[in-house]
Amino acid sequence: MENILLLAHTEADGSLGKAGLEALTTALSLGGALTVGLVGAATGAAANQIASCGAARFLAVTGDAAAGTSRWARALPGVAFRLGGRVDTHATGLDLANGAPALTRWFYRQRMEAVLSRTQRPWVVLLDPGCVAPWVGAPGAATVEAVSIEPPATRTTVTGYQAPKADEQTIRPDAKMLLVAGAGWTKKQGDGAVHAAEAEQLILAFLRKAQASLGGSKSVVDLSGEGEAVLHCMTHMNQIGQTGSTPRHAKGLSTCCHGEEPHVVGWRFVNQRRAINLDAGCGWARGKADVLYVADAFEVMRHVNAMLGS
Ligand SMILES: Cc1cc2nc3c(=O)[nH]c(=O)nc-3n(C[C@H](O)[C@H](O)[C@H](O)COP(=O)(O)OP(=O)(O)OC[C@H]3O[C@@H](n4cnc5c(N)ncnc54)[C@H](O)[C@@H]3O)c2cc1C
Repeated sequence: MENILLLAHTEADGSLGKAGLEALTTALSLGGALTVGLVGAATGAAANQIASCGAARFLAVTGDAAAGTSRWARALPGVAFRLGGRVDTHATGLDLANGAPALTRWFYRQRMEAVLSRTQRPWVVLLDPGCVAPWVGAPGAATVEAVSIEPPATRTTVTGYQAPKADEQTIRPDAKMLLVAGAGWTKKQGDGAVHAAEAEQLILAFLRKAQASLGGSKSVVDLSGEGEAVLHCMTHMNQIGQTGSTPRHAKGLSTCCHGEEPHVVGWRFVNQRRAINLDAGCGWARGKADVLYVADAFEVMRHVNAMLGS
Protein backbone atom coordinates (compact mmCIF):
# COMPACT_ATOMS: atom_id res chain seq x y z
CA MET A 1 0.00 0.00 0.00
CA GLU A 2 1.36 3.44 -0.97
CA ASN A 3 1.72 6.37 1.41
CA ILE A 4 -0.04 9.36 -0.13
CA LEU A 5 0.84 12.97 0.75
CA LEU A 6 -1.67 15.47 -0.62
CA LEU A 7 -0.12 18.93 -0.80
CA ALA A 8 -2.60 21.78 -1.17
CA HIS A 9 -2.43 25.51 -0.65
CA THR A 10 -5.19 27.59 0.86
CA GLU A 11 -6.97 30.46 -0.90
CA ALA A 12 -6.84 34.13 0.04
CA ASP A 13 -9.84 33.62 2.38
CA GLY A 14 -8.14 30.71 4.16
CA SER A 15 -10.37 28.00 2.65
CA LEU A 16 -9.38 25.06 0.50
CA GLY A 17 -10.43 25.90 -3.07
CA LYS A 18 -12.12 23.77 -5.71
CA ALA A 19 -8.85 22.50 -7.22
CA GLY A 20 -7.63 21.43 -3.77
CA LEU A 21 -10.90 19.62 -3.06
CA GLU A 22 -10.67 17.85 -6.43
CA ALA A 23 -7.14 16.73 -5.59
CA LEU A 24 -8.47 15.41 -2.27
CA THR A 25 -11.08 13.31 -4.14
CA THR A 26 -8.29 11.85 -6.25
CA ALA A 27 -5.98 11.20 -3.29
CA LEU A 28 -8.75 9.41 -1.37
CA SER A 29 -9.61 7.25 -4.39
CA LEU A 30 -6.14 5.67 -4.20
CA GLY A 31 -7.00 4.11 -0.85
CA GLY A 32 -3.54 4.39 0.74
CA ALA A 33 -2.62 6.00 4.07
CA LEU A 34 -3.35 9.68 3.42
CA THR A 35 -1.54 12.61 4.98
CA VAL A 36 -2.79 16.08 4.07
CA GLY A 37 -0.16 18.82 3.92
CA LEU A 38 -1.66 22.29 3.90
CA VAL A 39 0.31 25.41 3.09
CA GLY A 40 -0.95 28.96 3.37
CA ALA A 41 -1.03 32.25 5.25
CA ALA A 42 -3.65 30.56 7.47
CA THR A 43 -4.39 26.83 7.42
CA GLY A 44 -6.73 26.08 10.36
CA ALA A 45 -10.00 26.80 8.55
CA ALA A 46 -9.01 24.65 5.57
CA ALA A 47 -8.06 21.74 7.84
CA ASN A 48 -11.43 21.98 9.61
CA GLN A 49 -13.21 22.16 6.25
CA ILE A 50 -11.90 18.67 5.36
CA ALA A 51 -11.63 17.30 8.90
CA SER A 52 -13.95 14.37 8.14
CA CYS A 53 -12.22 13.26 4.93
CA GLY A 54 -10.54 10.29 6.61
CA ALA A 55 -6.93 11.51 6.40
CA ALA A 56 -4.63 9.96 9.00
CA ARG A 57 -2.70 13.20 9.61
CA PHE A 58 -2.95 16.89 8.87
CA LEU A 59 0.32 18.79 8.58
CA ALA A 60 0.51 22.54 8.06
CA VAL A 61 3.15 25.03 7.03
CA THR A 62 1.80 28.48 7.79
CA GLY A 63 3.21 31.78 6.63
CA ASP A 64 2.65 34.75 4.35
CA ALA A 65 5.23 33.61 1.82
CA ALA A 66 3.40 30.32 1.27
CA ALA A 67 2.71 28.85 -2.13
CA GLY A 68 0.02 29.61 -4.69
CA THR A 69 -0.86 27.44 -7.67
CA SER A 70 1.81 28.73 -10.05
CA ARG A 71 4.50 28.57 -7.35
CA TRP A 72 3.54 24.93 -6.66
CA ALA A 73 3.88 24.14 -10.34
CA ARG A 74 7.36 25.67 -10.44
CA ALA A 75 8.66 24.45 -7.07
CA LEU A 76 7.49 20.83 -6.89
CA PRO A 77 9.53 19.56 -9.87
CA GLY A 78 12.58 20.93 -8.03
CA VAL A 79 11.51 19.11 -4.86
CA ALA A 80 11.19 15.83 -6.78
CA PHE A 81 14.63 16.32 -8.28
CA ARG A 82 16.30 17.05 -4.93
CA LEU A 83 14.71 13.95 -3.37
CA GLY A 84 15.77 11.73 -6.24
CA GLY A 85 12.14 11.17 -7.20
CA ARG A 86 10.16 11.93 -10.34
CA VAL A 87 7.50 14.45 -11.29
CA ASP A 88 4.64 14.42 -13.79
CA THR A 89 2.56 17.46 -14.58
CA HIS A 90 -0.89 18.05 -16.13
CA ALA A 91 -2.27 14.72 -14.91
CA THR A 92 -6.00 14.43 -15.60
CA GLY A 93 -6.53 11.35 -13.44
CA LEU A 94 -4.80 9.08 -10.95
CA ASP A 95 -6.13 5.55 -10.41
CA LEU A 96 -4.94 2.21 -9.15
CA ALA A 97 -3.71 -0.22 -11.80
CA ASN A 98 -2.45 -3.60 -10.56
CA GLY A 99 -2.33 -2.20 -7.05
CA ALA A 100 -0.10 0.78 -7.93
CA PRO A 101 -1.00 4.36 -8.84
CA ALA A 102 -1.17 5.13 -12.55
CA LEU A 103 -1.82 8.54 -13.97
CA THR A 104 -3.65 9.65 -17.08
CA ARG A 105 -2.20 12.44 -19.15
CA TRP A 106 -2.80 13.91 -22.63
CA PHE A 107 -0.03 14.46 -25.16
CA TYR A 108 0.42 16.22 -28.49
CA ARG A 109 -2.01 19.02 -27.63
CA GLN A 110 -4.69 16.73 -26.23
CA ARG A 111 -4.77 14.41 -29.24
CA MET A 112 -3.44 11.29 -27.46
CA GLU A 113 -4.15 9.99 -23.98
CA ALA A 114 -1.58 7.91 -22.10
CA VAL A 115 -1.61 6.00 -18.82
CA LEU A 116 1.73 6.10 -16.98
CA SER A 117 3.12 4.54 -13.84
CA ARG A 118 6.54 4.88 -12.25
CA THR A 119 8.56 2.86 -9.79
CA GLN A 120 10.58 5.78 -8.39
CA ARG A 121 9.46 7.36 -5.14
CA PRO A 122 8.66 10.05 -4.21
CA TRP A 123 6.51 10.42 -7.29
CA VAL A 124 5.15 13.95 -7.42
CA VAL A 125 2.02 14.35 -9.55
CA LEU A 126 0.54 17.77 -10.38
CA LEU A 127 -3.17 17.37 -11.14
CA ASP A 128 -5.03 19.56 -13.63
CA PRO A 129 -8.26 21.03 -12.23
CA GLY A 130 -11.75 20.30 -13.54
CA CYS A 131 -11.34 16.53 -14.03
CA VAL A 132 -13.08 15.03 -10.97
CA ALA A 133 -15.81 16.16 -8.58
CA PRO A 134 -14.55 18.22 -5.63
CA TRP A 135 -14.64 16.41 -2.26
CA VAL A 136 -17.78 17.18 -0.25
CA GLY A 137 -18.13 16.36 3.43
CA ALA A 138 -18.92 17.71 6.86
CA PRO A 139 -16.50 20.17 8.47
CA GLY A 140 -15.11 19.35 11.90
CA ALA A 141 -12.23 20.09 14.22
CA ALA A 142 -9.02 18.74 12.71
CA THR A 143 -5.91 18.06 14.76
CA VAL A 144 -3.20 19.86 12.87
CA GLU A 145 0.52 19.27 13.36
CA ALA A 146 2.39 22.49 12.62
CA VAL A 147 5.57 21.97 10.65
CA SER A 148 8.02 24.78 11.25
CA ILE A 149 10.31 25.56 8.40
CA GLU A 150 13.54 27.47 8.71
CA PRO A 151 13.83 28.76 5.17
CA PRO A 152 17.30 29.18 3.77
CA ALA A 153 18.31 32.69 2.78
CA THR A 154 15.45 33.77 0.54
CA ARG A 155 15.02 36.69 -1.81
CA THR A 156 11.24 36.71 -1.27
CA THR A 157 9.75 39.56 0.75
CA VAL A 158 5.98 39.63 1.23
CA THR A 159 4.81 43.20 0.75
CA GLY A 160 1.07 42.61 0.51
CA TYR A 161 -1.58 40.86 -1.52
CA GLN A 162 -3.05 42.16 -4.76
CA ALA A 163 -5.86 40.61 -6.77
CA PRO A 164 -7.54 42.02 -9.89
CA LYS A 165 -11.10 43.23 -9.49
CA ALA A 166 -13.61 40.51 -10.37
CA ASP A 167 -14.73 42.58 -13.40
CA GLU A 168 -11.19 42.77 -14.81
CA GLN A 169 -10.67 39.04 -14.59
CA THR A 170 -11.65 37.50 -17.92
CA ILE A 171 -10.10 34.04 -17.49
CA ARG A 172 -12.33 32.02 -15.18
CA PRO A 173 -11.32 28.35 -15.28
CA ASP A 174 -14.29 27.35 -13.10
CA ALA A 175 -16.93 29.10 -15.23
CA LYS A 176 -19.66 26.93 -16.78
CA MET A 177 -19.48 28.94 -19.98
CA LEU A 178 -16.63 29.85 -22.32
CA LEU A 179 -17.12 32.72 -24.78
CA VAL A 180 -14.59 32.74 -27.58
CA ALA A 181 -14.07 35.87 -29.64
CA GLY A 182 -12.40 35.63 -33.02
CA ALA A 183 -10.80 38.17 -35.33
CA GLY A 184 -14.14 38.80 -37.08
CA TRP A 185 -15.13 41.18 -34.28
CA THR A 186 -12.41 43.58 -35.46
CA LYS A 187 -13.04 43.26 -39.21
CA LYS A 188 -15.07 45.57 -41.48
CA GLN A 189 -18.73 44.76 -41.13
CA GLY A 190 -21.64 45.00 -43.60
CA ASP A 191 -21.66 48.83 -43.43
CA GLY A 192 -17.99 48.95 -44.45
CA ALA A 193 -16.84 50.10 -41.01
CA VAL A 194 -15.02 48.45 -38.08
CA HIS A 195 -16.93 48.38 -34.77
CA ALA A 196 -14.25 47.24 -32.31
CA ALA A 197 -15.50 49.45 -29.47
CA GLU A 198 -19.01 48.03 -29.66
CA ALA A 199 -17.56 44.54 -30.00
CA GLU A 200 -15.63 44.98 -26.78
CA GLN A 201 -18.66 46.34 -24.98
CA LEU A 202 -20.86 43.41 -26.14
CA ILE A 203 -18.24 40.84 -25.13
CA LEU A 204 -17.60 42.36 -21.69
CA ALA A 205 -21.31 42.74 -20.99
CA PHE A 206 -21.88 39.06 -21.77
CA LEU A 207 -18.93 38.00 -19.60
CA ARG A 208 -20.29 40.01 -16.69
CA LYS A 209 -23.89 38.81 -17.03
CA ALA A 210 -23.08 35.14 -17.64
CA GLN A 211 -19.94 35.08 -15.43
CA ALA A 212 -18.33 33.42 -18.44
CA SER A 213 -14.66 32.96 -19.20
CA LEU A 214 -13.14 34.67 -22.23
CA GLY A 215 -11.12 32.87 -24.89
CA GLY A 216 -9.70 34.20 -28.13
CA SER A 217 -8.43 32.87 -31.43
CA LYS A 218 -4.76 33.30 -32.26
CA SER A 219 -5.63 35.88 -34.88
CA VAL A 220 -7.50 38.12 -32.47
CA VAL A 221 -4.87 37.97 -29.71
CA ASP A 222 -2.10 38.69 -32.25
CA LEU A 223 -3.90 41.74 -33.65
CA SER A 224 -2.53 44.17 -31.09
CA GLY A 225 0.94 43.59 -32.51
CA GLU A 226 -0.23 44.38 -36.02
CA GLY A 227 -1.65 47.84 -35.42
CA GLU A 228 -5.23 46.79 -36.24
CA ALA A 229 -8.41 47.55 -34.34
CA VAL A 230 -7.89 45.85 -31.00
CA LEU A 231 -10.07 44.30 -28.33
CA HIS A 232 -8.41 45.62 -25.19
CA CYS A 233 -9.86 42.85 -23.05
CA MET A 234 -7.94 40.26 -25.07
CA THR A 235 -4.40 39.13 -24.25
CA HIS A 236 -2.26 36.18 -25.27
CA MET A 237 -3.32 34.54 -21.99
CA ASN A 238 -6.81 34.19 -23.50
CA GLN A 239 -5.72 32.24 -26.58
CA ILE A 240 -7.40 28.86 -27.07
CA GLY A 241 -5.93 26.23 -29.36
CA GLN A 242 -2.87 24.35 -30.45
CA THR A 243 -0.48 27.05 -29.27
CA GLY A 244 -2.92 28.31 -26.63
CA SER A 245 -4.86 26.67 -23.83
CA THR A 246 -7.33 23.77 -23.61
CA PRO A 247 -9.79 24.85 -20.90
CA ARG A 248 -12.59 22.76 -19.39
CA HIS A 249 -16.10 24.20 -19.52
CA ALA A 250 -19.59 22.72 -19.76
CA LYS A 251 -20.52 25.01 -22.66
CA GLY A 252 -18.69 27.07 -25.24
CA LEU A 253 -19.90 29.77 -27.64
CA SER A 254 -17.61 30.79 -30.45
CA THR A 255 -18.25 34.17 -32.05
CA CYS A 256 -16.68 35.66 -35.19
CA CYS A 257 -14.12 32.85 -35.26
CA HIS A 258 -13.62 30.64 -38.28
CA GLY A 259 -13.19 27.33 -36.41
CA GLU A 260 -9.92 26.21 -38.01
CA GLU A 261 -8.35 23.02 -36.69
CA PRO A 262 -5.42 24.65 -34.82
CA HIS A 263 -8.04 26.65 -32.90
CA VAL A 264 -10.65 23.93 -32.39
CA VAL A 265 -8.12 21.47 -30.97
CA GLY A 266 -8.26 23.67 -27.85
CA TRP A 267 -11.98 22.87 -27.47
CA ARG A 268 -11.29 19.20 -26.67
CA PHE A 269 -12.72 19.51 -23.15
CA VAL A 270 -15.64 21.84 -23.89
CA ASN A 271 -18.72 19.62 -23.69
CA GLN A 272 -21.34 21.54 -25.67
CA ARG A 273 -20.06 23.67 -28.55
CA ARG A 274 -21.97 26.38 -30.36
CA ALA A 275 -20.74 28.96 -32.84
CA ILE A 276 -22.02 32.10 -34.51
CA ASN A 277 -20.58 32.89 -37.93
CA LEU A 278 -21.80 34.77 -40.99
CA ASP A 279 -20.25 32.07 -43.16
CA ALA A 280 -22.32 28.87 -43.48
CA GLY A 281 -19.19 27.14 -44.79
CA CYS A 282 -16.93 28.02 -41.84
CA GLY A 283 -14.92 25.36 -40.00
CA TRP A 284 -17.58 24.98 -37.29
CA ALA A 285 -20.03 23.73 -39.93
CA ARG A 286 -17.72 20.78 -40.62
CA GLY A 287 -18.61 18.68 -37.61
CA LYS A 288 -16.78 20.85 -35.06
CA ALA A 289 -19.81 22.46 -33.39
CA ASP A 290 -23.02 20.95 -32.04
CA VAL A 291 -24.94 23.99 -33.26
CA LEU A 292 -23.87 26.66 -35.77
CA TYR A 293 -25.92 29.86 -35.95
CA VAL A 294 -25.37 31.43 -39.37
CA ALA A 295 -25.90 35.00 -38.20
CA ASP A 296 -24.34 38.34 -37.38
CA ALA A 297 -22.70 37.96 -33.96
CA PHE A 298 -23.17 41.68 -33.18
CA GLU A 299 -26.91 41.29 -33.61
CA VAL A 300 -27.13 37.98 -31.75
CA MET A 301 -25.07 39.15 -28.77
CA ARG A 302 -27.08 42.40 -28.49
CA HIS A 303 -30.24 40.26 -28.14
CA VAL A 304 -28.60 37.72 -25.81
CA ASN A 305 -27.33 40.48 -23.51
CA ALA A 306 -30.77 42.10 -23.46
CA MET A 307 -32.34 38.74 -22.55
CA LEU A 308 -29.82 38.24 -19.73
CA GLY A 309 -30.93 41.56 -18.18
CA SER A 310 -28.72 43.80 -16.08
C1 LIG B 1 1.16 26.05 -36.11
C2 LIG B 1 -0.11 26.84 -35.93
C3 LIG B 1 -0.63 26.97 -34.65
C4 LIG B 1 -1.80 27.70 -34.47
N1 LIG B 1 -2.32 27.78 -33.20
C5 LIG B 1 -3.50 28.40 -33.04
C6 LIG B 1 -4.10 28.48 -31.74
O1 LIG B 1 -3.56 28.01 -30.74
N2 LIG B 1 -5.29 29.10 -31.62
C7 LIG B 1 -5.92 29.68 -32.70
O2 LIG B 1 -7.01 30.24 -32.54
N3 LIG B 1 -5.37 29.63 -33.91
C8 LIG B 1 -4.18 29.02 -34.11
N4 LIG B 1 -3.62 29.02 -35.33
C9 LIG B 1 -4.24 29.89 -36.38
C10 LIG B 1 -5.49 29.31 -36.99
O3 LIG B 1 -5.14 28.41 -38.02
C11 LIG B 1 -6.35 30.44 -37.58
O4 LIG B 1 -5.56 31.27 -38.38
C12 LIG B 1 -7.05 31.31 -36.54
O5 LIG B 1 -7.68 30.52 -35.57
C13 LIG B 1 -8.07 32.18 -37.25
O6 LIG B 1 -8.64 33.07 -36.34
P1 LIG B 1 -10.13 33.59 -36.50
O7 LIG B 1 -11.04 32.47 -36.85
O8 LIG B 1 -10.45 34.44 -35.33
O9 LIG B 1 -10.00 34.64 -37.73
P2 LIG B 1 -10.47 34.57 -39.22
O10 LIG B 1 -9.96 33.36 -39.91
O11 LIG B 1 -10.12 35.92 -39.79
O12 LIG B 1 -12.06 34.40 -39.14
C14 LIG B 1 -12.91 35.44 -38.74
C15 LIG B 1 -14.32 34.88 -38.86
O13 LIG B 1 -15.24 35.87 -38.38
C16 LIG B 1 -16.43 35.75 -39.14
N5 LIG B 1 -17.18 36.99 -38.95
C17 LIG B 1 -16.82 38.25 -39.31
N6 LIG B 1 -17.77 39.13 -38.92
C18 LIG B 1 -18.75 38.42 -38.31
C19 LIG B 1 -19.99 38.76 -37.73
N7 LIG B 1 -20.45 40.02 -37.66
N8 LIG B 1 -20.75 37.77 -37.19
C20 LIG B 1 -20.33 36.47 -37.24
N9 LIG B 1 -19.16 36.09 -37.80
C21 LIG B 1 -18.38 37.05 -38.34
C22 LIG B 1 -15.94 35.51 -40.56
O14 LIG B 1 -16.96 34.89 -41.32
C23 LIG B 1 -14.73 34.60 -40.32
O15 LIG B 1 -15.11 33.21 -40.40
C24 LIG B 1 -2.46 28.31 -35.57
C25 LIG B 1 -1.92 28.16 -36.85
C26 LIG B 1 -0.77 27.44 -37.02
C27 LIG B 1 -0.21 27.30 -38.40
